[in-house]
Amino acid sequence: EVEELSDEDKAIAEMLRQYNGVWVFVEQTEGEVAEVSWELLGEGRKLADKLKTELCAVVIGEGVEGLCKESFIYGADKVYTIDEPVFKYYRTQAYHEAMCGLVEKYKPEIILMGATGMGRDLAGAVATEVATGLTADCTGLDIDDKGNLMQTRPAFGGNIMATIMCDKHRPQMSTVRPHVMDMPERQEGKSGELIRETSSVKEEDIFSKVLEIIKDKGHSNEEDIAGAEIIVSGGRGMMNSDNFKILQELADAIGGTVGASRSAVDAGWKPHSRQVGQTGKTVRPKLYIACGISGAIQHLVGMQDSDVVIAINRDKEAPIFEVATYGIVGDLFEIVPALTKILVQM
Ligand code: FAD
Repeated sequence: EVEELSDEDKAIAEMLRQYNGVWVFVEQTEGEVAEVSWELLGEGRKLADKLKTELCAVVIGEGVEGLCKESFIYGADKVYTIDEPVFKYYRTQAYHEAMCGLVEKYKPEIILMGATGMGRDLAGAVATEVATGLTADCTGLDIDDKGNLMQTRPAFGGNIMATIMCDKHRPQMSTVRPHVMDMPERQEGKSGELIRETSSVKEEDIFSKVLEIIKDKGHSNEEDIAGAEIIVSGGRGMMNSDNFKILQELADAIGGTVGASRSAVDAGWKPHSRQVGQTGKTVRPKLYIACGISGAIQHLVGMQDSDVVIAINRDKEAPIFEVATYGIVGDLFEIVPALTKILVQM
């Protein structure tokens, strides 16, 4: 028996057919690309292959020709670019107008952006303008058997993973956390179709002006932890801020950096830029050493993809041991200095 589609369903199916391609917004600040953009090209490739559609990068800025080339190397089939002085610095109004113009003209099926300050800001503005849904802070993406995007993200304080669909609207939009998806291999020499667009955005129409850029020292710290290969993290078990010195010594001995659980950050022992977890950074180091951290789900979602996890905790039932490659049950104030001593001698 064949079920007759209602007129509304037919109209939706017709609308869905007009949208094609997986787009990744390539985020750049003064020519420096946020790594999550390349991670998204890697993930976008998988989605585009499943949908049998093309993978496109969107590069907006001033003097961004080199970044278009890089986008091909990271896997884009096609690059849409707008290269104009008005886009030298990120401003919501200008980028939003440019992006919406491209979306209305080319009708992408999926748009992915990094869950960074810029990506979160721009994605929200674009989704509102083009009247579609947006799933923020995704940690997993896939395609269902009807060709819809399945967008997975933690919900209810990280206690469940929710899979969210936007099956009656296009484009389907997600922001994705940095360091959750794998970096794709560079395909040196690869090229593709470059589409240069112009925008109708005029400097005099933009409400905000950039007068001066003052680099935030804290910002470089944030980069440190998110991209670090070795992280020694401390939790409530550290007892106070002074005790973090022993973690710093261990980190220094092995070329690492210091992270923290939310409890340690809330207590004021470490700045928020060092927090690992759902409301902090997602990290994927080669080695993660968790000291005096119980392993609450909100912490685990931020570090469980680390290559090797060493947990030091005096409670052998602590959930951190469930994700640990190696577990040491004992007092961190004995174990950490002893470890540092051995490693310094090596
Ligand atoms: P505790 O759970 O108190 O654990 C301390 C551990 O230290 C214990 O296991 C104890 O056995 C051990 N210990 C104590 N003394 C010693 C010692 N001398 N030697 C060895 N071990 C010792 N948490 C995050 O970390 N990151 C987040 O981003 C985050 N986001 C959140 C978002 C929401 C919406 C909510 C509701 C919570 C979030 N949390 C987050 C908080 C999370 O639920 C936990 O409360 C927090 O991770 C616990 O931190 P902790 O492991 O340091 O402290």
